[in-house]
Amino acid sequence: MHINDYIPIVGQSTIDDLKLLAERLKGKVIQHVNSTSVGGGVAEILNRMVPLLGELGVDSRWDLIKGGSQFFDVTKKFHNALHGRPEDITDHDLEIFMETTETNLGLMNTYGDVVFIHDPQPIGLIKKKAGNKWLWRCHIDVSHPHKKVWDFLMSFIPNYDAAVFSSPIFSQRLPIRQYLISPSIDPLSDKNKELPQEVIDAALAKYNIVKDKPIITQISRFDRLKDPSGVIDAYLQVKRYIDCQLILAGGTATDDPEGIQVLAEVQEKAKKDKDIHVLLLPQDDILINALQRASDVIVQKSLKEGFGLTVAEALWKAKPIVASHVGGISLQVKHKFSGLMCHSIEGAAFAIKQLLNNPEYAKKLGENGRQHIKNNFLLTRHLKEYMLLFLSLYH
Ligand code: UDP
Repeated sequence: MHINDYIPIVGQSTIDDLKLLAERLKGKVIQHVNSTSVGGGVAEILNRMVPLLGELGVDSRWDLIKGGSQFFDVTKKFHNALHGRPEDITDHDLEIFMETTETNLGLMNTYGDVVFIHDPQPIGLIKKKAGNKWLWRCHIDVSHPHKKVWDFLMSFIPNYDAAVFSSPIFSQRLPIRQYLISPSIDPLSDKNKELPQEVIDAALAKYNIVKDKPIITQISRFDRLKDPSGVIDAYLQVKRYIDCQLILAGGTATDDPEGIQVLAEVQEKAKKDKDIHVLLLPQDDILINALQRASDVIVQKSLKEGFGLTVAEALWKAKPIVASHVGGISLQVKHKFSGLMCHSIEGAAFAIKQLLNNPEYAKKLGENGRQHIKNNFLLTRHLKEYMLLFLSLYH
């Protein structure tokens, strides 16, 4: 991928700005650190961001911390708790977290001029801070965090130079500078690029999904906060009136130990209806792209959401969307303009029916959505904000 390939989409001046900023970062090494290279939004962004910074001439690298199953059980509890779910966080959990942190402090070389730490899992690496700059990037909706977990994270956060959140509603009282930078999608990635109809048809054929009934789809990790069970309930309500199909598709993430159990629950609930396709996907961006493009309505019925890249991906494909009014989704879906928002199973069912019954209206919402993503949530805007942030650390 060449940076100039983005000119037809975002214009020459946007790319010129990026080149100018990159020039000023010459000689600096940006080191991203997180806990998984596949599955979930953070990996999705870094997989595009890191090579594109490189393409601009900014030395950008990506390292992973190591952790065992106990550690990821604890960090998944942290994740749920920070999203405001009641979780019993014990002192033993904090000890497990610190043990793995100590191991990684020993293993990891934090060589970056800017060390960019993503999410809570690697947050304790800040103990290695020397003369370099450290950023903590929070991808979670922390508007109502679990106090014990937030207090624990606050034993690290003030040592960072700055923190970054996805939305103004997540900002926190902090003794350090904070930046509000929303995530983005890459319009030219395999996940989002245009696809020939044959590729879309082949994806449907692969999973025995027929083309003559409307397709409703949610793409997500199998996670309770994505409410796959609620999506099935909403679909069943729609099905009373419209003969349609549901795709619930997702893979697993190496740092998400709950996925297999949630998948089993969903499969159990879905087994009586042959029009529900529960797909455990391989890591295959073209396949996800194809399933999104084949859909008549995309649903994202999350109970909590940091940003919801799947929403941006659907809107970029001009798909009509029904999504919950939570977290960063509300930055993307403006109700009755770029999609329909819902607050309940009944609300989701009503909105899906409305879209399936009014294809012209659905099409208009999808087109508005694509424009909204183009104006606000493409990788080029994100790169510019990050480069400005890196530069601001030196002033
Ligand atoms: N995704 C994927 N394979 C899957 C499920 C999800 O590649 O089986 C991608 C999805 O297309 C999106 C990202 O993972 O790009 C999920 O990001 P999002 O912000 O929607 O949710 P998160 O998983 O970070 O909570």
